[in-house]
Amino acid sequence: MIKAHGYATHHSFSRLKLLDFEREEAGPRELEIDVLFCGVCHSDVHQAKNEWSNTVYPCMPGHEVVGKVRKVGPGVTRFKVGDVVGVGCMIDSCRVCAPCKAGDENYCEGPNSWLATYNGPMVSAEMAPTKKNMYGRDNTYGGYSDVLVVKEDFALRIPDALKPEVAAPILCAGVTTYSPMKHWKVAPGQKVGIIGFGGLGNLAAKIAKAMGAQVTVFTTTEEKLDEAKRLGVDGVKEDDKKALAALKLSFDFMLSTIPEKHNVNPFIALLKRDCTLTVVGALEPLSPVNNQEVAFHRKSVAGSLIGSLADTQEVLDFCAKHGIGPDIEIISIQEVNDAYKKIEDGDVRFRYVIDMASLKTESAT
Ligand SMILES: [Zn+2]
Ligand SMILES: [Zn+2]
Repeated sequence: MIKAHGYATHHSFSRLKLLDFEREEAGPRELEIDVLFCGVCHSDVHQAKNEWSNTVYPCMPGHEVVGKVRKVGPGVTRFKVGDVVGVGCMIDSCRVCAPCKAGDENYCEGPNSWLATYNGPMVSAEMAPTKKNMYGRDNTYGGYSDVLVVKEDFALRIPDALKPEVAAPILCAGVTTYSPMKHWKVAPGQKVGIIGFGGLGNLAAKIAKAMGAQVTVFTTTEEKLDEAKRLGVDGVKEDDKKALAALKLSFDFMLSTIPEKHNVNPFIALLKRDCTLTVVGALEPLSPVNNQEVAFHRKSVAGSLIGSLADTQEVLDFCAKHGIGPDIEIISIQEVNDAYKKIEDGDVRFRYVIDMASLKTESAT
């Protein structure tokens, strides 16, 4: 066993604090990683506070992990000690269902679906776990820790051109926005609308622009309109009825990054005939969709969940090639509770990234 340290919370209402625990050493085809940086995702806040009613405590979040390989298990072929690698939302999947075979691990239909990097049941897919042990055992612990063990198939290569701290949020926020844009075939010259301009929306706008699309972001504040200008994309206030009316039937694709229940109907009206609005931010019931808006021009409202391993590698390489990445603010692990509060209070436009070196100041070994 490896002695490990991390930040975890023990209740929905308590703060994250230091937890000493153990991880199993790297087994066959597994990597042991010294965690360098870990992004703070809005899901971390939802999960830590049990807002999806499935959190098992202690809960140690973190699924935007970049680290250095310190040890490889037997049979590892894709990585070597010293490589900088990324781990996103998944650390395993059943590998035998149709989506897994098609390379859509993020839509795994196995008995436990894909295994989440944190708050996933600690059983391996090969054990064909029953429903009873699905949430009945210790959960996986994520990247708010000094060391992580992962199967090499679920580790991503971080391109040299990407700083590790910038690469971290691409592993969730980046692929969550890139994957639907790829799936719905966003192409140069198309008009793409990004709804919500927080950390996810900011990165989505950069990726869509780099794909050659003409991008408009929909946001709530003047400040964020200025930010859109700085990015070189159009900005519209969500409540500007006149501006919205002028944009009717003009968008080829829209992506909603708003992380909570919201009304998509005003945006459906902006889609062209046969085009799609995809929701990635909110994993909960939306306000009812007005089918009059949808049916009249044969539009679609869709959802999309993170992205496959292949998509994740692709978006890392894409960001490196186009010199883009999230706007980040580096924090220490000791500042993580304050960061959660800020994420809950308002829509921060950057991503917080934890410098995991800060953990060493309070952990003994
Ligand atoms: Zn995430
Ligand atoms: Zn599967």
